Amino acid sequence: METNPVAEMIIDIAKYYPEIVVENTQWYKVNNEITSEIERERERKREREEELIIIQERREREIEEELRIKEEGGYFSPIVLTNPKRYKCPICNAISGTDAPKNPEDASLFVHYFDCINKFKKLELK
Ligand SMILES: [Zn+2]
Repeated sequence: METNPVAEMIIDIAKYYPEIVVENTQWYKVNNEITSEIERERERKREREEELIIIQERREREIEEELRIKEEGGYFSPIVLTNPKRYKCPICNAISGTDAPKNPEDASLFVHYFDCINKFKKLELK
């Protein structure tokens, strides 16, 4: 009990209360330090949440940009391979299966590598 400073302070305050100004006591100051530690922790939490929001917003912009490119679309002309007839992307060089020339309207049959900008474009056959 003698070595517990908080208990000693509480006993001190109780002894002199209400004459003592609580704000001037060690007890109050120690508690305020704890409060400011909590405040710093809240600040760090807010900062982490803001970072997450920034990451989220960046991702949303990327999705919007992908959608915009997709909507703007445009056309590209594939390289036509023969025996059997297949299409090859002039940018990423991915080669589609034989179903692609049979169904040129079906863009899903035309394969690209993941970062190919032709991925969002429609087929234009010359
Ligand atoms: Zn491609």
